[in-house]
Amino acid sequence: MGNPQTAELEAALRMLPSTDDLLTAPGVQTLIPEIGRNRATMLVRVAIEELRTELADDIAGHSGRVEAYSKESLSTTALAKFARLWDLRRVSRLRKVINATGVVIHTNLGRAPLSPEATQAIIGSAGYCTLEYDLTTGRRGKRGEYLESLLTDMTGAEGALVVNNCAAAAYLVLTVFAKGGEAVVSRGELVEIGGDFRVPDVLIQSGATLKEVGTTNRTKVSDYEKAIGENTKILVRVHPSNYKIVGFTEKASLAELAQLSRRKGILLYEDAGSGALLDLVKFGLTDEPLISRSLADGADIVTFSGDKLLGGVQAGIIVGGKNLIEQIRKHPLYRALRVGKLVYAALEATVESYLREDAESSVPVLKMLGLRKERLEERTGDLVLRLQNKLSKDGTVIEMISGASVVGGGSGPDVRPETVLLAINRANVSPAEIENKLRMGATPVITRIENDKVLIDLRTVPEDEEDHLVEMLAVALS
Ligand SMILES: *Cc1c(COP(=O)(O)O)cnc(C)c1O
Repeated sequence: MGNPQTAELEAALRMLPSTDDLLTAPGVQTLIPEIGRNRATMLVRVAIEELRTELADDIAGHSGRVEAYSKESLSTTALAKFARLWDLRRVSRLRKVINATGVVIHTNLGRAPLSPEATQAIIGSAGYCTLEYDLTTGRRGKRGEYLESLLTDMTGAEGALVVNNCAAAAYLVLTVFAKGGEAVVSRGELVEIGGDFRVPDVLIQSGATLKEVGTTNRTKVSDYEKAIGENTKILVRVHPSNYKIVGFTEKASLAELAQLSRRKGILLYEDAGSGALLDLVKFGLTDEPLISRSLADGADIVTFSGDKLLGGVQAGIIVGGKNLIEQIRKHPLYRALRVGKLVYAALEATVESYLREDAESSVPVLKMLGLRKERLEERTGDLVLRLQNKLSKDGTVIEMISGASVVGGGSGPDVRPETVLLAINRANVSPAEIENKLRMGATPVITRIENDKVLIDLRTVPEDEEDHLVEMLAVALS
């Protein structure tokens, strides 16, 4: 015990609260029904461990704080650490947020919000349901049969199949039809989508060899034709989604590729990405492949996402020829990538909206994209008045400015729907501080900052969330 520092540390460590001390403290006791005893014990241990490290650092660094330590102060600090650790866990739970960013398909915020019908369908199938049960015979039924019929009705395809997401769909299609052979793709379509979906990587994972043709900006039918050899199994067309090549460009049409693939006896597969079940030109989205058109143009198989422009849940939809779909269904990989009852429930309700031809007013993604600037102006104007009435006159400036929303989800990178924004600016408070307060509120409100103003875009806020938004704004700006 020659080292005075060691002696000091040992003395301080003896004052540290024990796990049991903390677990019986009222601040922890009241939370145990919510957290559970084992988990509370784990958090308490982490808090004590953090405190132990800090003590050692303070003593080694002669911080002078050591004299202030007492059994009580250390216990208070440990409890504060425990509370902070629990808070951090609690906010990382999946939470409802108000998306005021104006990004309609916001991947970080769960992509497409569901329609009330789809939400109801999820609740309705949460318990026991007819996932693989045929009510008319009382025997085992086929999983997904009804949704598949809706998808074939909607797209004109002979067959349909649903898997976990579009990445899974592409992987599955290429594994079943191109493994051990060559897949021909244009260099202009070897893109990365959404951060971690890279077309070449998926191709290689599937066991196919990638044969690149053409150049980044120009790929002609003759380029594909020259690349097709004995071992070529499939032509792949990928919708570049979040990426657009402009200027001196040329691209073989799907119909031309279909002619070529028929002549050569190989398959034509289009990964449409988002894809559209109805023509989205009226929303300014001129580049989105319409699934029914791709099939009519001669694509043998088309894949697309369930939670992008379609406006449903995460899923990958495969449509195409009956035989091809059945080959995919029989592959063991399909069993690994199939979806559960909640996905079927939500997609059934969503595709039914399209078939009833009321998707534009019932599927939120389409409703939001279709919102006119005049309507947004009315709603934003009302919001400005309501806030001005609620807030004290303390230098908060709330105004209405014009701006642009974003489609998101990798669709229409160059399409910026005109919008009206509520802009918040406050004397002596930074926009980052306001943004943070809104984000950390009881119901998090996600906003963006531009030109030193916090912006609220009502395009992505459903009307029935407006009251809630006003409350959250009032709290954050009080
Ligand atoms: C978004 C996208 C994917 C991936 O879709 P997920 O459903 O997110 O897996 C694949 N291909 C294209 C062309 C896309 O746009």
